[in-house]
Amino acid sequence: MAKIPINMQSGEIEKKEIIIGIDLGTTNSLVAYIDNGIPAIVKDNNSQNTLVPSVILFGEEDQIVVGDLAKSQIILRPERTIYSVKRLMGKSYNDVENYEKLLSYDIIDQENELVKVKVGNRFYNPIELSSEILKYLKTRIEKHLGESVSKAVITVPAYFNDSQRQATRDAGKLAGLDVLRILNEPTAASLAYGFGTKEDKKETIAVYDLGGGTFDISILKLDHGVFDVLSTDGDTFLGGDDVDRAIIDHWIKEKGIDLSRLEEDKSLGQALRLRAEQAKKALSAQNEYRSDDGEYALSHEIFHALVQPIIQRTIDKCQSALNEAELKTEDIDKIILVGGSTRMPLVKKTVSDFFGQKAYDDINPDEVVAIGAAVQADILSGNTTGYLLLDVTPLSLGIETMGGLMDTIIPRNSKVPASVGRSYTTSVDGQKNLKVSVYQGERELVENNRKLGEFILKDIPPMPAGIPKIEVRFILDADGILRVRAKEERSGKETEVVIKSQYGISEEEMGKMLLDSLKHADADMKKKALLESINEAQSILRAGEKFVIQNKEILSEEEIEKLNQHILSLSSAIESKDRNQIESEMKSLNDYSTPLAERAMDHNIKKALSGKKLA
Ligand code: ADP
Ligand code: MG
Repeated sequence: MAKIPINMQSGEIEKKEIIIGIDLGTTNSLVAYIDNGIPAIVKDNNSQNTLVPSVILFGEEDQIVVGDLAKSQIILRPERTIYSVKRLMGKSYNDVENYEKLLSYDIIDQENELVKVKVGNRFYNPIELSSEILKYLKTRIEKHLGESVSKAVITVPAYFNDSQRQATRDAGKLAGLDVLRILNEPTAASLAYGFGTKEDKKETIAVYDLGGGTFDISILKLDHGVFDVLSTDGDTFLGGDDVDRAIIDHWIKEKGIDLSRLEEDKSLGQALRLRAEQAKKALSAQNEYRSDDGEYALSHEIFHALVQPIIQRTIDKCQSALNEAELKTEDIDKIILVGGSTRMPLVKKTVSDFFGQKAYDDINPDEVVAIGAAVQADILSGNTTGYLLLDVTPLSLGIETMGGLMDTIIPRNSKVPASVGRSYTTSVDGQKNLKVSVYQGERELVENNRKLGEFILKDIPPMPAGIPKIEVRFILDADGILRVRAKEERSGKETEVVIKSQYGISEEEMGKMLLDSLKHADADMKKKALLESINEAQSILRAGEKFVIQNKEILSEEEIEKLNQHILSLSSAIESKDRNQIESEMKSLNDYSTPLAERAMDHNIKKALSGKKLA
C-alpha cells in the first residue's frame, strides 16, 4: 500500500495551532493534546483527576455543573443529575423506550423525535447536554494552556451510526468547537499505541475496548506508520454498567428488595448503583467486598459468575471481528486493552486466554483513547507527520429497492473516504420521478434498518420502463458522513443531497440553540455573580454581629446603634436578592466599621501587651 505523507495532504490548516483531542465517553470524558511531541492529558486543578465524569447537574436555579461535583449529587438529586447522555445521542424516543426505565431522570415521549430530557420545567436534547460536557473540557484545557482553543477531534464508538456521529459533531459546534474529525475510539487507541513506535513496525492489532456503556473490538494493521482498519464490531449496550446491574439484581434477589420501591425511590436506585460499582472496583483488587455498614457483601465466586456471561458476549464479538477480517487469533500480534472495565482481572484473563497471549495494558486504559484523539489532532495540525489513518465505515449504506429490499451500495467495513456508484432504472413506463430512500444497516429488509433520509430525482424525461439509466452515487467522507447523488445519465438530470440524519438537528435549530445557550450563558453568569455576592455578604454580616458582641465596651452606644442599622440594611438587601443593593450595603457597612475595627484592634493589642507585662 502506498504511503501518503499527511503533512503534504493538508495545506489548509495553519501549523502550530493546538488542536485538542477529546474522548467524549458515556461514563467519563477526557481532553488531551500533544505538547511538543508528548501526549498530555489535562488534569483538574484541585483534584488532579484526568477523568471528567460525563455527568451534568442542573441546580435549582438551572445553573449547570459538570463532572465530579455533578456525580456526587446523583443520590441527593437523581432527577436533576443527567448521566449516560451518550446513549441517547442521535436516538428517537422509540429507540430508548426500554432503556428509559433504568434512568433516574425523565425522558419525554415525543414520537419519532429526537429524545429530550426533562429537568424541572425545561427540556434538553442530548446534543445540548453533550455540549455542556464539551464546554467544560474546552474551559479546562483553555485554563491549562492560557489560550483559547477552537478546533477539536472527538472520538465515538466504532459502532456509532450516521445520526450519532452527526449529533456528536453538532454538540461540538454548540460548544464552540470546530470538529475537524470524528474518530473511531479503537482507531484512536491504536494510534496512541503506534505513536512513538512508528519506525518499521508491522503488526496486526486487536483493540478491545470495554467501557461503561459500550463495547468495541477492532482489528487493525499497522505497517510503517500506516494504520489500516481491517474490521470492527461491537455492541452499544454492553459495558461496566451491565456488570453493575448484574450485581444490583443479585442483591435485590438476595435481600428480597421490593422492585416497586426501587422504581418509586430513584435515590435508592442510585445509591444501589454506586454501591454496586464500588463493589465491582474493589473486587478488581481484592477477593471479597463488604460495605462499611456491613449491609452489602459480594464474594469473588459470585462476582465471577455474574460477570462471566457479559465477558463471553465480548468474546463472541471478537470472534466475529476476526472472521470479518479473515484472520485467526494467532494472526494477532498485539491486543490493546482500552476502557475502565478492562481493569477487571477476569476480563484481562479471558481476553488473554482467547487470543492465546497476554493482552497489552501498558498505556492507562482510561487515557488511551484521549491520547489517540490528541495524536490525530496533532496530525491534522501538521505537527506530527508520517502517519496515515485508513478508517472504515461500521455499518452498510444502501437504498431501498422494489419490495422494500435493502440494496447495499457501500458495504460495512469499507474504507473511508469512499465513493461508490450503482446504476438503476425505472419500473413503470413514462415514470417521471424516482424516490431514493437511504438506509443504514445490515438487514435484508429496509424496515429493519435505519432510515437516514430520502429525496426525489425529478423530471426524468418520459421513457419506457427499464430504459432510463440512473446512477446513484454514495460519497462518504472521512468522518463517515454521507452525500448521495442521483443522476439520470441520458438526460443529465441530477440531484444531490447531504444526508442529514433523521434525528439530527437542522441549521436553524442549531442557530436557535446557540443563541439560547448564549442567552443562558449571560443569565448563568448573573446568577453566579449574585450567589457570590450573597455568600460574601453573609460572611460580612456574621463578622459584623460578632464584632458588636465582642467589642461592647469599646464602642459607644451610638456606634452600636449605627452598626446594628447597617447590619439590618445588609440583611434586608440579601433578602431582596438585588446584587447592586447587596454590594452597596456591604460597602456602607465596611466603610463604617473599618475605623471602628482599627480602634478595637489597637485596644486589643494594647490589652494583650499590658497583659504580657503583668505576667
Ligand atoms: P466510557 O468509555 O464508557 O466513558 P470508561 O472507559 O471510563 O467508560 O470506563 C468506565 C467503566 O469502567 C465504568 O463502568 C467503571 O465502573 C469501570 N471501572 C473503572 N475502574 C474500574 C476498576 N478498577 N474495576 C472495574 N471496573 C472499573
Ligand atoms: Mg471510552
